[in-house]
Amino acid sequence: MQESKFIWMNGLVVPWNESNPHFLSHALHYGSAVFEGIRCYNTKKGPAVFRLDDHIERLFNSANIFGMTIPYTKDEIICATKNMVVQNNLSECYIRPLAYYSSGGLGFDVTKQKVDVGVAAWAWGAMLGAESIVNGIKLKISPFKRPSAEFMPVNAKVSGNYANSIMAKMDAVRTGYDDAVMLDANGTVAECSAENFFMIKNNVLITPTKENCLDGITRKSIMEIASENGYAVEEKKIRPEDLFSADECFICGTAAEIVPVTSISMTSIGTGKRGTITKFIQEEYSKAIHGETEKYSKWLTFVNP
Ligand code: PMP
Repeated sequence: MQESKFIWMNGLVVPWNESNPHFLSHALHYGSAVFEGIRCYNTKKGPAVFRLDDHIERLFNSANIFGMTIPYTKDEIICATKNMVVQNNLSECYIRPLAYYSSGGLGFDVTKQKVDVGVAAWAWGAMLGAESIVNGIKLKISPFKRPSAEFMPVNAKVSGNYANSIMAKMDAVRTGYDDAVMLDANGTVAECSAENFFMIKNNVLITPTKENCLDGITRKSIMEIASENGYAVEEKKIRPEDLFSADECFICGTAAEIVPVTSISMTSIGTGKRGTITKFIQEEYSKAIHGETEKYSKWLTFVNP
C-alpha cells in the first residue's frame, strides 16, 4: 500500500500512522462497521471524485440499514473526502470512508457504542492489476454462496459481510483463478467477491437483478453509458450454465474498474480475449471518469474549487 500523509479521523486530520483503533474496538471483533470505496481521477480541470454524492448516500444508507448513526452530516463527510485528496496531494486515488463501533464493550446491544469515522485516501491502481484491464481475468464459480437479503441486507456495505468475500476470493486464488463469481442461495449468479457481473449475448448487456447483489455505482454508470450508446441492457436472473455461452463477460467495481473475463471455471468465454463491446464500454467509462464526456460531468466532484 502506498502510504499517504494524513487520515481524517473524527473531524481531525491526523498523521497516517496515528489512526490506530483500540484492540477492544467492537468493529475489530465483529466487523460492525460500514464503509465505501470511492475513486478520484485526474481531469483537465484537476482531480475529480467520481460520483461522490452517490457513494456518501450509500454510506448513510448502509448505516441506516445496519442501525448505526453516523455522528456527522453527509456534507461533512463529503468535505472530509475532498480534503483528504487535497491534503495528501493526490490526483488519482482510492478513498475509503469507514464508520465503526469503537468503544462500549463487546456485547451485541450496540446502543451505547461510540461510532468513530475515518476517511483515508491513497494512490492505488486497478485492484486486479493494470494488465487485467486489457488481458482479462479467470473467474471461478465459487463454492461459497452470496448471502441473500434474508440473511444480510445485500445493499448495506457492512464490513462483516466481507468475510464471505474473503472466503470466496481466497478459494479462487488458491485454486489458480483470479476471482470468484458467486451464486445466491437459489443458484443464480449474484456478483463477484467485490464486483458486479455482466455478460453480453447477441449485443445485449445482461446483469443480475439487484435482489442479490450490491447496487454498484460502476454497474449503474455502465448501464447508463451502454443504453445511451444504443446497447440494450437487461437486468435478469442468470443461471451458471448461461455463462458458458456468453459472447463476452466482464466484472466491474470502483476498486477493480472494468475487467474483462476470459474464462469461467476453465471454460473459455467468447474468443477467450477481451471482447469488443467490453473494450468499448471500458473506453467510454474511462472518458467519463476523466471528464472527457461533457454529459457525464454530472458525475464529477472537483476537489479544488
Ligand atoms: N459488489 C460488492 C460486493 C462490492 O463490494 C462492490 C464494491 N463496492 C461492488 C459490487 C461494486 O460496487 P461499486 O461499483 O459501487 O464499487
